[in-house]
Order: sequence, then structure tokens, then C-alpha cells
Amino acid sequence: MRDFSSDHRWLSINTATVRRQRGVDWPLLEIIDACAARGIRAVSPWRDQVAAAGLQATMQSLRAHGIELSGYCRGGMFTYADAAGRQAARDDNRRALDEACLLGAPCLVLVVGGLPGALEGRAAHRDLASARAQVTDGIAALLDDARERHMPLAIEPLHPMYAADRACINTLRQALDVCDLLDPPGSGALGVAVDVYHVWWDPELAQQIERAGRNRLLALHVCDWLTPTTDLLNDRGMMGDGVIELRKIRAWVEAQGYAGYSEVEIFSANNWWQRDGGEVLDTCIERHRRCV
Ligand code: ZN
Repeated sequence: MRDFSSDHRWLSINTATVRRQRGVDWPLLEIIDACAARGIRAVSPWRDQVAAAGLQATMQSLRAHGIELSGYCRGGMFTYADAAGRQAARDDNRRALDEACLLGAPCLVLVVGGLPGALEGRAAHRDLASARAQVTDGIAALLDDARERHMPLAIEPLHPMYAADRACINTLRQALDVCDLLDPPGSGALGVAVDVYHVWWDPELAQQIERAGRNRLLALHVCDWLTPTTDLLNDRGMMGDGVIELRKIRAWVEAQGYAGYSEVEIFSANNWWQRDGGEVLDTCIERHRRCV
């Protein structure tokens, strides 16, 4: 297992962690500058942040600083209520794939979607099984393109509390079942993003990480689970402030040969998004050394 205690070579910042500080958007190019100034070598940006900064400008900034991506957030949202929705989802995923390729991401992260319309508060139906079938079909269609472009797809299982509105793939076992179905040899074209916030509670976690193996472990996202958690989406904790056994989970992932970035991804409306962005980045570095 790698020793992270004395440097932050393998720390990546998911840029949602500092997307909006004290009510003001922190522009992506400034986030990248602030990361570079601290010796942070990788980021994982969100599509809306890249769109606001401009794709070309983002590419130039990353190149100028020598900063890599640890992933690109995100594709997915495959579920739909009608033919137009199906086409819109497919078109949007192809655009996400294009952007991931241009930015040189190591993988496109997929948050697969829940019941169609649920995120907007109007679920079209309650048939979770059919939503899951649409997800599998959507990934299968995107995978053909992704293979051609040599862009791995990383399915991110989300905590079951998001099953209705964000992702109906909720465990690593489910995600790996889809991988086995669509990419049985484990070519590396399709795999998983292990986000500790979503999977830490799973009694099968160690076993499913082992099942994934090197070829399917494409990303590792870290933060912490606070007790109590006061918001289902935007109350993630800084590493060390909660109850997740971060080092144990990283050890399981690295035992399979994972040697990539450990990406800090914290959505925190009432705490970390209320602070100066530089302070948040400094804290991420310190906690990454001490707690991850
Ligand atoms: Zn994540």
C-alpha cells in the first residue's frame, strides 16, 4: 500500500469540492491555478464547470500546469420516459465522451440515473427494474463508441438513498454485474468508480473490490460520512471527520493493483462551501496525508 503521509502526489481534487465558495462560483481556471500552486497534480472537473470556462481554455490550462485528470464528471442519466428522452440521453452521453477524450481523462464517470423525471420531482413511473434495464442498454450503446475512442467508462454505484432520483445502480455488486454482462473479459473498457461515500456501508465491499480486480477499478473517490448527516446530497465530510475506514478501503483497492489517484470529492453546503477555497484545498492536502 502506498504511503500518502509525506506527500500528496496521488491526491486529486474533484472540482465540485470547491465549486462555489461562500455563494460565489469559483471559476474552474482559478481552481486549476490554485491546485497547481499547491503541487496538486490532478483534478476531476464537472462538465458545467468546463463549459463555463471553455473546453479549449481548460485544455490549455491543464497542459500549461501539467495537471492530469483523474476522471471526468460525468456521463450517465440513461433513463427516459419516451423516445425523445432516450435520444437526448444518448446524444448527451456522446458529447460527454467527446469532452472526456479532448481533455485526456482516464475515464468517463457514469452516474446512471434513477426513475425518469424523479430528479425533477415528477417520477414518470415506479418501475425500478425497467429503469435498471434502460441503464444497461444505455451503457451498452455508449460502450461501443467508448471502445472505439479508447475511453474507459466507470460506473459509479451510488448509495441506495439515491436510487429513486440519481442512480439505480447502488452497490458494487450491481455495477460489476453490468460489467460482466457487457464486457465479460474485463478488457478495461468498462469498470467502476469506487466512491467511499456510496459504498462504505456495504458488507460485501471487500469481496466486490476483489471481484473487480485491477482492470475494473478505474477510480477511487474519498471523503467521509458524518454522524449525523444533515442533508442527503450536500453534507459530505472532510476525510477524518466521519466514520469511514478510509485507509482500510484504500488498502483493499490497492491490493488489487490500483495505483491511480485518490480523488477528494466533497459536497458541503454548510461547511466546506462556506470557506475560502484555498483553505479547503490546504485542508484536503493535510487530511489526505493524515487520514487517507
Ligand atoms: Zn464520486
